[in-house]
Amino acid sequence: MSLGEFDLIKRYFQQSALSGNPIGKNTNVVIGIGDDCAILDVPDGYQLAVTTDSLVSGVHFFEDVCAFRLGYKSLAVNLSDLAAMGAEPKWVSLAITLPRVNEQWLSEFSRGFFELANKHNIILIGGDTTKGPLSITVSAKGIVPRNKALLRSGAMLGDFICVSGTLGDGALGLASKLEQVQLTHNDAFLDALELTEPRNELGVLLAEYASSCIDISDGLLQDLGHIVDSSHCGATIQCEKLPLSTAMKQEIRNNTITLEQAFKYALTGGDDYELLFTISKQQYQQLILQHDTIAITVIGEIIEHNSPKIHLTNNSEVISRQFSGWDHFK
Ligand code: ADP
Ligand code: MG
Repeated sequence: MSLGEFDLIKRYFQQSALSGNPIGKNTNVVIGIGDDCAILDVPDGYQLAVTTDSLVSGVHFFEDVCAFRLGYKSLAVNLSDLAAMGAEPKWVSLAITLPRVNEQWLSEFSRGFFELANKHNIILIGGDTTKGPLSITVSAKGIVPRNKALLRSGAMLGDFICVSGTLGDGALGLASKLEQVQLTHNDAFLDALELTEPRNELGVLLAEYASSCIDISDGLLQDLGHIVDSSHCGATIQCEKLPLSTAMKQEIRNNTITLEQAFKYALTGGDDYELLFTISKQQYQQLILQHDTIAITVIGEIIEHNSPKIHLTNNSEVISRQFSGWDHFK
């Protein structure tokens, strides 16, 4: 590589070099970038939560994707996993494989990555830099109070099923990119796909209230499937309650998509990165009483283990049959 590996790391990834400041005091980083390992202090009373996600060119993103958005999203998908466990994000490592050194690309990638990292006060503590087909592997680390992590296995009979934010916009953005739909306004959907907002504050809050949680990366039904499998229960979802964005509703009104298509994106589209969680009715009342502006929607309820494991209704009418071909119903 033209620019040496170590200069590259220093120029684009060493935060203290980028900002001109040594790493701050309350970051719990004893040794950061520059040694063989990072050394971190886990505060007393907390456990470490660790997750890794890879983004591979041509598989997870288009080769020509904007580097800023790629940097941003490679961190966002990892932070979303920490949010799902109720962990507070603290540190991140980054392994990047590059076909060549393109400084403009690196600069934009780094800008996108640190835009999100700085927003959440996260420190890049190390990584690896290699030459080869473009691929990015990020491992985010967070802390969670001892034995308080949210798991997929905690859903209980009678719990409400809730989601944060709105559903389906990322999937519609992807469909639009693939020219499967012609939308009136593309931008909101492309932003939802590429500038995902991980729900970390909500995740930390939910650790005190929810019984189980997962982030929606593979579509609501598939991810709810993981909760019902792990918790040995069933679920009903009322489709008329699925939260749709203003932009999505506008597309329905403009007849660029049907309501049924919107349901399909909301139920099966990936890339939402919203939190899907279960919560007892009592805890739900407490949660909305104490946090009345919280953007969550009750969309269903946990029922006994059943076949199909997830029942779909629309205004009380059973609709799952209309969506045949989706494996996760079976
Ligand atoms: P080693 O050969 O001992 O594994 P490297 O020479 O690969 O170490 O890396 C030197 C230092 O730079 C290490 O602290 C490593 O964690 C860090 N590093 C390497 N690549 C990156 C990257 N893309 N982002 C952040 N830190 C990196
Ligand atoms: Mg070494």
